[in-house]
Amino acid sequence: MAIPVLARDLDFYQFDSLLTPEERALREQVRAFCDEEVLPIINGYWERAEFPFELLPKIAALGVVGGTIKGYGCPGLSHVAVGVGAMELSRGDGSIETFVGVTSGLAMQSIAFCGSEEQKQRWLPPMARMELIGAFGLTEPDVGSDASHIRTTARRVGDRYVLNGAKRWIGNASFADVIVIWAQDEETGKVGGFLVERGTPGFSASVIRGKVAKRPLLNADITLTNCEIPETNRLPLARSFRDTAAVLKATRFGVAWEAVGHAMAAFEIARDYALRREQFGRPIAGFQLVQQKLVAMLGELTAIQLMAWRLSKLLDERPEEVTEGMASLAKQQCAARARQVVAWGRELLGGNGILLEHHLARHFADMEAVYTYEGTNEINTLVVGREITGIAAFV
Ligand SMILES: Cc1cc2nc3c(=O)[nH]c(=O)nc-3n(C[C@H](O)[C@H](O)[C@H](O)COP(=O)(O)OP(=O)(O)OC[C@H]3O[C@@H](n4cnc5c(N)ncnc54)[C@H](O)[C@@H]3O)c2cc1C
Repeated sequence: MAIPVLARDLDFYQFDSLLTPEERALREQVRAFCDEEVLPIINGYWERAEFPFELLPKIAALGVVGGTIKGYGCPGLSHVAVGVGAMELSRGDGSIETFVGVTSGLAMQSIAFCGSEEQKQRWLPPMARMELIGAFGLTEPDVGSDASHIRTTARRVGDRYVLNGAKRWIGNASFADVIVIWAQDEETGKVGGFLVERGTPGFSASVIRGKVAKRPLLNADITLTNCEIPETNRLPLARSFRDTAAVLKATRFGVAWEAVGHAMAAFEIARDYALRREQFGRPIAGFQLVQQKLVAMLGELTAIQLMAWRLSKLLDERPEEVTEGMASLAKQQCAARARQVVAWGRELLGGNGILLEHHLARHFADMEAVYTYEGTNEINTLVVGREITGIAAFV
């Protein structure tokens, strides 16, 4: 049976027409990078659980690192541009996207939001060029969701701070040049942010092995044992957990887009597969139950893409009106729905859905990590719940 020609491509609701020419050009550029540079090599890296460091100069050349930060050699992109960049990167591969999200979003935004002028001048330009890589250390072995109660401490001794504690899951930490460590400042009794440079005595990081999601992304366990840093490495505007939360609020929209990218990839792969795979003498795309699944995937994908776009547009136009709950709702909804989309996609590929070579399995596995990090589904739900009822259900 001849394979039908699709009347429209993936862009069912003409999403592209919502983008400015610059945002569209960036999306195309990142898509081409993923198609040409990432997809041909990524499965091997996934299997070996190694990061493709050889791609760093090409990632730097995309002009997305530094995201919305203005000045300091950063691109000063719109939130929509950062979002579609993240969407296209994760449509290619989730580990590459998270690698960029950690250094460009979490680490650089911490410095941009909370750092001194001197710290910004020192770190942001080389980080934007990817000559230096950053990491963001908040989660601990015994403290995950309850992040405001981290136990790592920072004690001031003269003109130095001495850090003690442990961190877990920290992306890029085993090779990063600078790690933003969030710790309880013993002087103020509040959470503060501290820049720990690679090679500082008392700092060690070991890669967590055995992951079944985002395998090329290197996450690490960190230990800080009497790790001394100069007082000038304290982020002066990180004065309490509120400031940590402000950084997370500013980066959470990117995770929503990341989920959209995984859903997009799953839909594209599943639709193509359903048109090519024949059973009972015809392409499986011709069966009603298969079409139902493809339509459900497209429906969820379209909904979350528009939601992520709207949040980003608000961040561009009226940032003061965007609340923590609005950012959390987008992350929670996009991740939950994309998780369902990749599961349907995996199903549609039958046994091939669990093979790396068909590319869907990676997205299926990676969505599990997206669902959990930057606030689990439950925690983001409770943040929204607090905002719409005025009652915090998680303290
Ligand atoms: C691939 C990956 C990369 C990561 N990268 C980083 C990083 O770079 N930097 C960093 O700091 N962290 C990072 N993390 C950590 C991540 O943010 C945490 O895993 C996440 O916050 C959840 O913490 P936890 O794993 O300790 O789970 P827990 O907090 O132990 O939660 C376990 C379960 O209990 C639920 N739960 C907890 N409290 C409540 C409640 N009050 N009500 C209802 N349910 C609740 C959770 O929703 C979850 O389902 C990463 C994690 C992963 C998997």
